Amino acid sequence: MISANPPLTLDKLNLENRFAGLPPHFYTHVQASPVSAPYLVAASPAVAATLNLDSASLDTPEFLACFSGNQTMHGSTPLAAVYSGHQFGVWAGQLGDGRALLLGGVTHAGKHLEIQLKGAGMTPYSRMGDGRAVLRSSIREFLCSEAMASLNIPTSRALCVIGSDQMVFREIPETSAVVTRIAPNFVRFGSFEHWYYNDRMDDLRQLADYVIEHSYPELQAHHNKYQALLSEVTRRTAELMAQWQSVGFMHGVMNTDNMSISGLTLDYGPFGFMEAFDEKHICNHTDQQGRYSYRMQPAIGNWNCQALAQALSPLIGSVDDTNAALAQYPAIYRQKWTDLMRQKLGLHTEHENDLDLIAGFFTLLQSNHADFTLSFRNLSKLSLQKTTNDELLRDLFIDRDGLDSWLQAYRERLNFEQSDDHLRQTGMMAVNPKYVLRNYLAQVAIEKAQKKDFSEVRKLLQILEKPFDEQDEYEQYADLPPDWARHLEVSCSS
Ligand code: AMP
Ligand code: MG
Repeated sequence: MISANPPLTLDKLNLENRFAGLPPHFYTHVQASPVSAPYLVAASPAVAATLNLDSASLDTPEFLACFSGNQTMHGSTPLAAVYSGHQFGVWAGQLGDGRALLLGGVTHAGKHLEIQLKGAGMTPYSRMGDGRAVLRSSIREFLCSEAMASLNIPTSRALCVIGSDQMVFREIPETSAVVTRIAPNFVRFGSFEHWYYNDRMDDLRQLADYVIEHSYPELQAHHNKYQALLSEVTRRTAELMAQWQSVGFMHGVMNTDNMSISGLTLDYGPFGFMEAFDEKHICNHTDQQGRYSYRMQPAIGNWNCQALAQALSPLIGSVDDTNAALAQYPAIYRQKWTDLMRQKLGLHTEHENDLDLIAGFFTLLQSNHADFTLSFRNLSKLSLQKTTNDELLRDLFIDRDGLDSWLQAYRERLNFEQSDDHLRQTGMMAVNPKYVLRNYLAQVAIEKAQKKDFSEVRKLLQILEKPFDEQDEYEQYADLPPDWARHLEVSCSS
């Protein structure tokens, strides 16, 4: 059968830059700075498909030229957007796309997706930066975007990483890369704060109207569409935080300029996945106070929504209406978190003691510093009767007696709802991933890539695209981190 919409080659992908329709002070047109001898590190056929881009295009010289920034795509009007933001809780003033260029967007299957190059050179918002991104952080962003998407967590996507031997200087000289990101939009909470703190209410309104028109058209008819916008972003953000917590994802730099108005995970920097559980874990080694530690993320999500509410308040009109939209955050977060935790424990019904049962498991994770991902995965293999699979879980805990008494309560709870082993295990395996982007896995792939061997990056992409599948042949990728990697540190430098 001939598909109604056959995939297109790169030259047929017609870009339209909607953001360029906003007045010129919202952005600056900037051409990418070319790089010499770009090479493909990795590309995602799945992301290409979302753009209706033919997967054969990923191996062409045109692809390298376009996504390294060396060639301007058909219909593309590259621009860097201005925004501001609160960084680590402090108003930072103007920031903007210091190393990102919005090329334009593609509409496919009723969805509009924007394409952005990150690391393609300086812009007027580069401040002290060089407009580049190092290979290491570009690979991390590429792999994690795709890992998160496969975990069914809202996120920007990544089409490809293109490397170049062009050196940039961080703590040491490193080679640079360009990562191509895809999202319905790249508008941030800080984009609104920018106009609010500059006292530019007309621009604020124009941005809000733009976002509603293109990303929240269903809110147009609302009697107070700006309140509806705040309400919807608050809901999405609260749910996103619950989703992050449920897989042990830590963003690391939840500044308001890194918060997506569409509720996506955005701007991957020093992120991490929880391994040995510690709710106080800080994945960004520059965040000494732990503002963005695992346990703080839900509260910081709320703080960021408050910052957005402040910026939107002149449009919403009344303090009460603003507060009403914002006030839903804790309840939405709690509900989503509880739903996800019930799924992770395989509970189909609701019981008043469920929160205690869930809290009991977290207390054990904390006191045993048990591996977060493997603990939930191995819990998924448990049966109502004890089997040898109990040992897979027990092996992760030092306090076996503590775990055993929790397991007894857990099994009583499962019996109470007449849980079916097969059904429950299948359901739990579909929400408790086996494979996440552990720091050491990324590190091994990065070190090979720095020597021009990209096989490990590509293999990791494939494995992380099916995080819930057993994939027996890749068993060791689910292992605990080796000793050398237990204290790998990730800084903001990227
Ligand atoms: P981040 O918190 O990493 O998302 O970045 C904060 C701000 O710094 C944003 O405005 C970035 O565009 C900018 N920035 C970060 N690194 C660079 C760089 N190497 N060159 C230019 N701007 C940068
Ligand atoms: Mg950022």
